[in-house]
Amino acid sequence: MSNYRGRFAPTPSGPLHFGSLVAALASFLDARRAKGEWRLRIEDIDPPRCPAGAADTILRQLEAFGLHWDGPATWQHDCNDAYAAALERLKAQGLAYPCSCSRKQWRNYSVYPGWCRHGVQEPDKPVAWRLRSDLGLRPVVWQDRLFGEQRFDPAELGDVVLQRKDGLWAYQLAVVVDDADQGISDVVRGFDLLDNTPWQRQLQHAMSLPVPRYLHLPLIIGEDGQKLSKQNLAPALPEYDDAVRPLLHAALTALDQAPPRELTTAPVEEQLSWATAHWKIARLRAEAYHQAGVVTL
Ligand code: GLU
Repeated sequence: MSNYRGRFAPTPSGPLHFGSLVAALASFLDARRAKGEWRLRIEDIDPPRCPAGAADTILRQLEAFGLHWDGPATWQHDCNDAYAAALERLKAQGLAYPCSCSRKQWRNYSVYPGWCRHGVQEPDKPVAWRLRSDLGLRPVVWQDRLFGEQRFDPAELGDVVLQRKDGLWAYQLAVVVDDADQGISDVVRGFDLLDNTPWQRQLQHAMSLPVPRYLHLPLIIGEDGQKLSKQNLAPALPEYDDAVRPLLHAALTALDQAPPRELTTAPVEEQLSWATAHWKIARLRAEAYHQAGVVTL
């Protein structure tokens, strides 16, 4: 039995698009190839960013592409107690401090200079909670499975926010707590999150949590040269089979897995079982792909 456990962790700020399909697919194939589990976590910690119905659409889209997850989907809105307990632990260790400063106040610095480390500057104002990165936390070094050795100095990372002034949990804290609580061994996600990973590694270190392996994927670039994203209105993935099949094939092509042409219109199960048997990270190129010429949406 494999001890691999992967996850797909979309923020339900809108439906999935081709870029998210590629990330979900790579994470799914990596887990299935390792005979491991593949979990789904809905990252809805920021309710104003998550319109009603978006998460349901995501679940349906994944099903339509045959990306069936193991166990029940988990929701970050159910995990407040775990995030609060993590923050309490960091506070007790002297590794978290309240901060009243606004972005505007430190706009001339590349990272927050830590003014509130030794006492809140403006005690009457709402506070965020930050991690102290100056207390012996070492340089963050890890081996990305595609991009190789990554090294970040705590001074360039600054004191990451753990809880925002409005009381919402920061993504960095939530993702680290969830990955640990859910026993995630492997994180496979887009390159746009690679520069978040050092903060997550710092937090894992500060809380003595196990550290997953990381594989960041090349991004999908649209015809306009921009990364495909909800912000630049990448089209939502379809849910009807005629459109799903060629798009799944296109996603395998975008991941350089060279799926046979005759699979283009094959049922999703057949495409996925071929792709699982042939999944090779060595085929991925550590550069962005141009969507043009791969697929027209
Ligand atoms: N929720 C994040 C997103 O949708 C991804 C988090 C992760 O994979 O760590 O961009």
